[in-house]
Amino acid sequence: MTLYFVVPCYNEEQALPAAAKALGEKVDALVSSGRISADSKILFVDDGSNDKTWEIISGLHRDGGVFQGVKLSRNRGHQNALLAGLTVAAKYCDAAVSIDADLQDDLDAADKMLDEFGNGCDVVYGVRSSRKKDGFFKRNTAQGFYKFMRKMGVEIVYNHADYRLMSRRALEALEGFGEVNLFLRGIVPMIGFKSGTVYYERGERTAGESKYPLKKMLAFAFEGVTSLSIKPIRMIAALGALIFLVSIIALAYSLTRHFTGHTEIGWTSIVVSIWAIGGIQLFSIGVVGEYIGKIYLETKRRPRFIIERYLR
Ligand code: UDP
Ligand code: MG
Repeated sequence: MTLYFVVPCYNEEQALPAAAKALGEKVDALVSSGRISADSKILFVDDGSNDKTWEIISGLHRDGGVFQGVKLSRNRGHQNALLAGLTVAAKYCDAAVSIDADLQDDLDAADKMLDEFGNGCDVVYGVRSSRKKDGFFKRNTAQGFYKFMRKMGVEIVYNHADYRLMSRRALEALEGFGEVNLFLRGIVPMIGFKSGTVYYERGERTAGESKYPLKKMLAFAFEGVTSLSIKPIRMIAALGALIFLVSIIALAYSLTRHFTGHTEIGWTSIVVSIWAIGGIQLFSIGVVGEYIGKIYLETKRRPRFIIERYLR
């Protein structure tokens, strides 16, 4: 069976050499133990890096037969870069494993993924058994992220990032999901088929720095929720109904006060409620607007990535 490792890389000149070495050794070991065939490949996707990433990838391609490279025409983000790689791999492989260039995900878990694949799974999720090696901040924000997504009605696998094996037919099915606002972790479970889970310890980034600072992480979560769930809009509707209810109660209260002869001073309460309701309305319009913006972008059917070069 032909296995492709798909590795998105954005400004990874520091992490790439070690990643290439480790991945190369992994493929060699798997080939010599007869688990995968000799035409298996490691496919690096250069997501429009502006450092030496592409030079390194082309060098690897020149030196060894196992390395391939896809160069995107510009930076499109982790998810699109990954999709580009998976789309290319789907044409040639029986299964593809997606993994980050920083090798935070334990490569040995790929063996277990292959076991699950052998058991008939089309999708095998790599799940972190612990986050001991993550910093305090990353650990908590990341776990908050998964809980928040669940609450918001997005079905995702807890503590699973983008380290997973997908069979060729799962990859082909993935191509049927045409959304421009791509959030793979939410889409892959929708594909269905038999799936399995493999647990591993997540390590530290080997070199370079995280390409997901807090700002990008928040944007990613927002993207994930609004592209997969309409729950926030429902919550706005519920909030509107609740506020309306409160206003009826307030009306009843002030009427009884009026008829029992008490005059309200009431300035504060009025001003506060004007601001509160104004704020909630603006926020709500913003959320609804976000969905309209999504519709706008989706109807354009713009390409999600453009491949500049493919080194086979
Ligand atoms: N990445 C990418 N395009 C981007 C940002 C990141 O292809 O615009 C890649 C990056 O090179 C890495 C993977 O996505 O291989 C995950 O990024 P990172 O390790 O920085 O994220 P973290 O593990 O900190 O969440
Ligand atoms: Mg990382």
